[in-house]
Amino acid sequence: MALKLVACPQCGDSVEWKPENRFRPFCSERCKLMDLGAWATERYRVPVAESDESEIPADEDPAPRPN
Ligand SMILES: [Zn+2]
Repeated sequence: MALKLVACPQCGDSVEWKPENRFRPFCSERCKLMDLGAWATERYRVPVAESDESEIPADEDPAPRPN
């Protein structure tokens, strides 16, 4: 039975594709968490930044007129 090697999507290292490797296709838990973290950060960053920027200028109203 030959071992199947795959490339870790995070660091590109060679990973043995075997049932004992529960982090596959990643080489380690660290690479797996980094990949998931990057994905989640991308996903959450967009809506948060958008609502933040559109609400701040709308609330700021220079009401008092200099007269
Ligand atoms: Zn890796």
